[in-house]
Amino acid sequence: MTCKVTNVPPAANLDIPALREKYRQQREIRVRKEGQKQYVRPMDEFSESYEVDPHMPVQARDSLNEDIDVVVLGSGWSGLLAGVHLKKSGINSFRNIDHAGDFGGVWYWNRYPGVQCDNDAYCYLPMLEEMGFMPSKKFSDGYEIYDYIRSIADRFGLYEKALFHTLVSRLTWDESIQRWRVSTNRGDDIRARFVVLANGLLNIPKLPAIPGIHDFKGKMFHTARWDYEFTGGSYRNPVLDKLADKRVAIIGTGATAIQAVPYLGRFAKQLYVLQRTPSTVDERKNIPTDPAWVKTLKPGWQKERQENFQKATIDTLAPGDPDLICDIWTEINRNLLAEFSQEGWPTTAEEFMARREVMDYRVMERLRQRVDSIVKDKDTAANLKPWYRFLCKRPCSNDDFYSTFNRPNVKLIDVSSTRGVEAMTEKGFVADGQEYEIDCMIFASGFEVTSDLDRRWGIDVIEGRNGLSIYKHWADGYKTLHGMMSRGFPNQFYIGFYQGGFNATTTETFNRQGQHVAYIIKEALSRRITTVEPSQEAQDNWVRHIRETAIDISQFQRECTPSYFNNEGEAQFDDKGQEKLRWYLGESYGPGWGAFQQLMQDWRDKGDLEGLEKRKDGEFYEQ
Ligand code: NDP
Repeated sequence: MTCKVTNVPPAANLDIPALREKYRQQREIRVRKEGQKQYVRPMDEFSESYEVDPHMPVQARDSLNEDIDVVVLGSGWSGLLAGVHLKKSGINSFRNIDHAGDFGGVWYWNRYPGVQCDNDAYCYLPMLEEMGFMPSKKFSDGYEIYDYIRSIADRFGLYEKALFHTLVSRLTWDESIQRWRVSTNRGDDIRARFVVLANGLLNIPKLPAIPGIHDFKGKMFHTARWDYEFTGGSYRNPVLDKLADKRVAIIGTGATAIQAVPYLGRFAKQLYVLQRTPSTVDERKNIPTDPAWVKTLKPGWQKERQENFQKATIDTLAPGDPDLICDIWTEINRNLLAEFSQEGWPTTAEEFMARREVMDYRVMERLRQRVDSIVKDKDTAANLKPWYRFLCKRPCSNDDFYSTFNRPNVKLIDVSSTRGVEAMTEKGFVADGQEYEIDCMIFASGFEVTSDLDRRWGIDVIEGRNGLSIYKHWADGYKTLHGMMSRGFPNQFYIGFYQGGFNATTTETFNRQGQHVAYIIKEALSRRITTVEPSQEAQDNWVRHIRETAIDISQFQRECTPSYFNNEGEAQFDDKGQEKLRWYLGESYGPGWGAFQQLMQDWRDKGDLEGLEKRKDGEFYEQ
């Protein structure tokens, strides 16, 4: 499967300085001086409804009081893959703990109608060859992913000890027993030698703090807690028939709303889509998996495909490289490669970046033209056009989103001039001074991603040696060794986007981190080392190395329209006037994914857990 270049307008047809200025103005319209503080935690504001799991009843169980080798916090992809690697390393004394009622993470919680993965399923679903599984189409439905996750958990025996509907409230290092004490909302007291924080990125829903939000008397829910009781239909069959006599509004036009809006438009009596910033929405081309293509695949194909995706998005396709993925994510590099092959390759990095920037404008123009080709009402089409650089927001693809606005029962309401929805009332919401009466407000308003870590992680207390709080410790930036451990927090591991190599396939990032963490735990257990912890020197060197080799994308981020990619456009500074490094993508290893994996492989091959202080019953230990 290879693909052609897209039909982007030529650069000569674009006035790039004028576009740049338009992007700047559009950004200014949206930046809010409160930044992150424009959002509230549903858990604080609406604790009753948001603590409830709409998908599965909570089962009563006795509290646990036990010693165990490892606790893995989380059972989404990162927790699942950490569990798989622990099992593969021969470690059995561990548990996954999760607030949800099952494995799945975002794919457990997000069951809104139309939920699908926006990434090529043949890359995104890990371990396909090992599991002997093939996704049914290029972009999997949420339930296909959820079912697949459960099948992995089942295959590796992870259900046996997993604790669900359990929220960890405190995680404290107990020096006297050299273990982590894990306290939960179910009264558990678990003493774990090691803890792996695989607690996810898109797990805590957030709500805009709209004046009057508490006055609304109708139904409200967040997309990550979809209420099929109210809408009708079900996760696997979202026929929202109970909305036939309902007036519904949805806040947000991000990746979630793009998928849910076509269903709401089809079934609700009236739908208002409250948009602050338009998304880019390309064609989906969600083709079923071709059995003839499957037959051509050779062992190792998935790794090869993930490498190709990495090159076609984050790195660069080289002459002769095909684009195997062929979607919105790879368009810019694919088009550039085709042009360079004809016109010659740029001779400097600056020239390359300049050509890339021009291609970015051309692709965005193509996407704006797409709106005009579908949406009939001119004002609505104008409001749906995105004015920012391609990766300022997560790109989307959907075949039914734009055409939904051609329905007579659907109205787009642009709320950019008031930097978000103006107000809510007892009966509905206010826009442009007019009150709209509704029966239901749906929040597709996203998740805590770049907010303060304690908000984002949702664990009240994480204290290492001498009561050191991780939240305070990292308040002015991450301090880690390889992005996976931090000094002062012995035997504690982090899986996610902190300071290391990140892959375009998020699950591959988690997979490799899980593998590395399991290696360290296995080595420690088999050598009877009680604690491992980065030395000050090793950690300082890593943080310095990460920052010295970092690719500076701050200008791009500053010029982008606000989103969680750039901390809502809000730069944050520490006491010394340095900008805080707290982007969603963490601090990515400048030399790249491949270099980072090589570094980790060499580190493991060396076999001495270099840079980690090893202690046996409190005493330094070298072998
Ligand atoms: P996002 O954070 O991307 O979007 C939130 C939306 O709510 C934005 O449109 C935002 O507008 C809007 N909003 C926030 N506050 C207000 C307000 N006061 N008034 C009006 N509008 C407001 O959340 P999503 O749930 O859409 O997506 C989150 C992430 O989840 C994605 O980026 C992606 O990583 C993941 N996801 C992945 C999918 C997949 O296929 N793998 C599918 C769906 C989601 P504005 O843009 O102006 O801030």
